[in-house]
Amino acid sequence: MSQGVRTRPEGSGQPLSEAYDTALLDLDGVVYAGGSAIAHAVDSLAVARSGGMRLAYVTNNALRTPDTVAAHLTELGIPTGADDVITSAQAVARLISEQVPAGARVLVIGGEGLRVALRERGLVPVESADDDPAAVVQGYGGPDLPWGRFAEASYAVRRGVPWFASNTDLTIPSGRGIAPGNGAAVEVVRIATGAEPQVAGKPLPPMHRETIIRTGAKRPLVVGDRLDTDIEGAFNGEVDSLLVLTGVTDGAQLLAAPPQHRPTYVDEDLRGLLTGQPEVTGDGTGFRCGGWTATAGADRLELTGDGEAPDGLRALCAAAWTAAGEGSCALDGGKALARLGL
Ligand SMILES: [Mg+2]
Repeated sequence: MSQGVRTRPEGSGQPLSEAYDTALLDLDGVVYAGGSAIAHAVDSLAVARSGGMRLAYVTNNALRTPDTVAAHLTELGIPTGADDVITSAQAVARLISEQVPAGARVLVIGGEGLRVALRERGLVPVESADDDPAAVVQGYGGPDLPWGRFAEASYAVRRGVPWFASNTDLTIPSGRGIAPGNGAAVEVVRIATGAEPQVAGKPLPPMHRETIIRTGAKRPLVVGDRLDTDIEGAFNGEVDSLLVLTGVTDGAQLLAAPPQHRPTYVDEDLRGLLTGQPEVTGDGTGFRCGGWTATAGADRLELTGDGEAPDGLRALCAAAWTAAGEGSCALDGGKALARLGL
């Protein structure tokens, strides 16, 4: 993929599950939501896999071990082995292992996923700033992480011990709403110390590197629902991406996306893996996809025609992204999106 400024979603004559060897799938908002499978996920993934596509699951959540995540997916009807799951805990453990002596002690503020990942790299998890750690690592610890853990991190970080974070997602979705994520916990230690951690998770390169090392993917396709983690991570890793609309991103956010947040492909849900992707045609005067034509007016985006909603969205993306160039489109797309039910 070239890193010129993307001004429209690309087309694909082949089903994406055949055009790419490995899908690097985000979990929340893509495969499941609140613990239950998202519509069409189980069937679509089964078909993609039987056609020869490797499926790997890439999560910024460092709390659960790959074994636990794999068991959850298998229970949902998506047969998955622990080797098919890549977590930000694994990415940060590798990053730490490259900067401390072999067998070093690492102060852990987080959950079991982080401890397992550190041991896998030959590092020794410890619990206190007094245990003489060579590094401090923070990962999501769940709702029961005691406040005193942040004090342990702060004592060590203030002494100058190198500080790492699995990821900096500020929030995490739960069955009851939006809860503080690991990024919020990192902010607590940042405020107390004035220090800056090294971060591994999406959209940063250590996470992408970990997925490529572990999957051996030659032609990967990142599949995600978030522009600032999944899609930006693919952009930074210079690989193609598919945005699905089953998670946190709505049509307006997609139209306003700056270049590093523009996906290669856009589709409603994981059924998009099994089909080709229609081309968007046209130029400065209008962009066509399916039965739709999108244009950029003086202060808003216009959409005429008829057809499938994702095709209308693709045409609108081309109009908005072309108008915005290297910036972020400020044209009002509300009326056009309403026509599509998006
Ligand atoms: Mg997600």
